[in-house]
This record gives sequence, structure tokens and C-alpha cells, in this order.
Amino acid sequence: MAVGVDHSRRNFFRGRRPSEKVNVRLPWLKSEQALLQECTQCSDCINACETQIIVKGEGGFPTVDFTKGECTFCQQCALACNEPIFVDDLSQTPWQVEAIIKDSCLAKNQIMCQSCQDSCEPYAISFQYLQSSVPQPRISQVDCNGCGACVSVCPQSAIEIKPIDTSTTLAIGE
Ligand code: SF4
Ligand code: SF4
Ligand code: SF4
Repeated sequence: MAVGVDHSRRNFFRGRRPSEKVNVRLPWLKSEQALLQECTQCSDCINACETQIIVKGEGGFPTVDFTKGECTFCQQCALACNEPIFVDDLSQTPWQVEAIIKDSCLAKNQIMCQSCQDSCEPYAISFQYLQSSVPQPRISQVDCNGCGACVSVCPQSAIEIKPIDTSTTLAIGE
């Protein structure tokens, strides 16, 4: 085990209730529980990330920060990790997340903006043209892969990527 892991903080995060907010951590993570139990905070995943979006989050555990950029699903974080934290089969869907647009969105406040649309490679963001309104953004959760590319381009920080699979992301309260 790596020197420098704060065990009291590890236990604190392990003991959180399932209702408490959990951020999107890393793609192909087995579970939040696996991360909190097995991560040695060695920073190998942080150093391997080609877009440098992995940071030390709560308690020093790695987490993605989409304000720094997008996940390209390069798999380097999972391949760099020597602990049993990531799933073995990286052909699986990397995570169960959804992108939501908050009320602070400029378009929702009748100010023309479509900045997020061009950043979305799978074309999950579309704009609906309504009478007497600036075009309104919609995100197709079917097409969205949770890459987070839309987050940093939004001038209002109005897009949030959230976990949707409670069986894998909220396992910390078990
Ligand atoms: S898959 Fe690649 S881009 Fe995405 S978090 Fe891991 S290392 Fe970073
Ligand atoms: S970039 Fe942000 S403010 Fe602009 S339309 Fe998209 S969500 Fe709204
Ligand atoms: S998270 Fe990625 S795929 Fe989803 S809406 Fe944003 S840019 Fe598009």
C-alpha cells in the first residue's frame, strides 16, 4: 500500500450514505467501493490521462474534472492501474452517466447560444426551433456517451455530467 493515504478520510468516504452525491469518477471503474478500498493514490491514472482531466478529488481519490477537457476513452487510466479497480473487459460501456443542462443555460434564458453543439462528436446535442424563443438545447441521452466535451465550452458552466447507475456509483453506502 502506498505511503501517504489518509485512512481516516478513506473510511469517511466509504461510510457515506447512498443518498449523498457521488461524482463521476473514472471510466470502466468497477465501483466506487472498489476505488475507495483498493486505490493507493499512486497517481498512475492521473499521469496516464492523455487529456489530463483526472485530478485528485475528495479524500485524494482520482476523479475526472470535465472543466479541464473531455474523456477520449483512450483506456490509458485503466491500463496504467495496478490495483483491482477497473473492469477487466474494456469493451464494455465505460460508464453510466447522463449530461444535463441546468437552468443557467443562456438559451434557456432567451440569450442566443449554441456553443455546446459543435463540441459534441456523437451529435447528441440538438437545438429545437420554437416560435417566440431562441433555439432551445436538448441532449439525447441515447446518443450521449458522457465524454464531457460540452462542459468546458459552455460559457455558463450549465452542463453537468452525472452518474445514472446507482448500482455501481452509489455502492459506497453498502
Ligand atoms: S479514458 Fe483516457 S481520456 Fe478518459 S479519463 Fe481515462 S486516461 Fe483520461
Ligand atoms: S453552451 Fe451552455 S449556455 Fe450555451 S446553449 Fe449550450 S448549455 Fe446553454
Ligand atoms: S457529454 Fe459528450 S456526448 Fe454527451 S452531450 Fe456532452 S459532448 Fe455530447
